[in-house]
Amino acid sequence: MARMPVLFVGHGSPTNAIEDNKWTRGFSALASLMPSPVAILAVSAHWYVRGTFTTGDEAPQTIHDFGGFPAPLYEVQYPAPGSLSLARRVAALLGERASVSLEWGLDHGTWSVLRHLRPAADVPVVQLSLDVRLGPEEHVALGRALAPLRDEGVLVMGSGNITHNLSDAFSRLHRGVRTTPGWATRFDRDVAVALGSHDVEFLAQAPETEAGRLSHPTLDHYLPLLYVAGAADARDHVRFPITGFDLGSLSMRAVLFG
Ligand code: ZN
Repeated sequence: MARMPVLFVGHGSPTNAIEDNKWTRGFSALASLMPSPVAILAVSAHWYVRGTFTTGDEAPQTIHDFGGFPAPLYEVQYPAPGSLSLARRVAALLGERASVSLEWGLDHGTWSVLRHLRPAADVPVVQLSLDVRLGPEEHVALGRALAPLRDEGVLVMGSGNITHNLSDAFSRLHRGVRTTPGWATRFDRDVAVALGSHDVEFLAQAPETEAGRLSHPTLDHYLPLLYVAGAADARDHVRFPITGFDLGSLSMRAVLFG
């Protein structure tokens, strides 16, 4: 079996789940850049809890984990099967701190992208949580432990955003300002350079820089990238199939290692 690539996707607004725009056309086009996976392990920004869990439900719920959006968004279902065997396999790879949970399903970090990337919902999907208590290096190490899945046909997909400061983005939206601030351009560019040279040490420290603090008031949307970078190695070529900013300061950059 060919080694699977590893993917990070900037998911942006939940409305991308139901829109046809440059980002969602980019999500669709990602499918042509990789072999069809036997299963998908999604590391979503939106399962940020105290603990490392995998979803063990064989028929995971579509979770509408947002408020104040148009009604059609709450009707979206992404009926992909789960996989208890993959959930157990991932927990075993991650060691004692990880366990299988039936408390979560597929959140919009996962389905707003997969609805375009895998519209048939015919591949089992398991989610992995982000433990709020861990430091960046520990998240990288967990990502590294996921690397064997690549030889088993599993697509490891992180879903977050490389810059994600929602109060800044909404303030720009309300003021009608569409320009991208320097800190966002700088952080997005520096992260891209580090990804290109597989500099995971930089990636782990980057949120502590000035541009990093402005880009991530909280780390939830950044951490999935650390799993993806951890599961990749120096043999991988890196590509950025989607680039650009939504709402001025929200990086939509996608990263494909393989
Ligand atoms: Zn999000």
